[in-house]
Amino acid sequence: MKSTCIIVAAGSGSRMKSDKPKQFLEMEGHPLLYYTVKAWQESFISDIILVTSGGYLDYVRKDIVEKYGFDKVSKVITGGETRFDSVYQGLLACEGTDYVYIHDGARPCVDGGVIERAREAAERYGACVSAVPVKDTVKVVDKEGFAVDTPERSSLWAMQTPQAFRYDLVRAAYDALADKDRTGITDDAMVVEKCGSAKVKIVMGSYDNVKVTTPEDLRVVENILKNR
Ligand code: C5P
Repeated sequence: MKSTCIIVAAGSGSRMKSDKPKQFLEMEGHPLLYYTVKAWQESFISDIILVTSGGYLDYVRKDIVEKYGFDKVSKVITGGETRFDSVYQGLLACEGTDYVYIHDGARPCVDGGVIERAREAAERYGACVSAVPVKDTVKVVDKEGFAVDTPERSSLWAMQTPQAFRYDLVRAAYDALADKDRTGITDDAMVVEKCGSAKVKIVMGSYDNVKVTTPEDLRVVENILKNR
């Protein structure tokens, strides 16, 4: 059975306010993407597809894949304008695989436990997402900034990656939405939910599995990586 990991790292990182996309910022002497790829290289996965922006193809090939000897990386390809487009390019590049694990390049602290829990659920249910229960109370806020609703906290989970699926199922869901309005789609599970082809199982991710989005996330990630 073949399992492929698609690591999406084609975002521009506009919320980071740095000249380099966040996944390439250096931490403890290595680019963030190095830590992300390393976690998957050391996992059960058969091969890895790296999706990046056109201008970084050479850099990723030479300064990440070759430099660190990541021999599970079979392709480095160009992504698209949105995360959906980048994932879709990854899916088109891994035809013939049985399972895909879609992971954000900007989540360098993913660990073997998270990956193994996703594997168990993907193979059992066909579709799963790593997530953590929210710790804060969450409010729905209107356009004027007033609270309008408070969903029950015990039923709220914050979605992470990996999001893992049987290949045929997630590919069909992405194919079906490829030329439709995709406003508001922020993760892969939503694509599968919209298609209604499978129920998506939620599995425990990790509070350490943060996504680097804004500058303060870097301090958190640095602390986690230093203390490993
Ligand atoms: O923008 P956001 O933080 O939600 O991005 C999550 C992941 O998706 C990041 O690793 C980013 O590089 C990737 N992405 C992508 N292509 C885009 C936008 C985001 O690969 N067009």
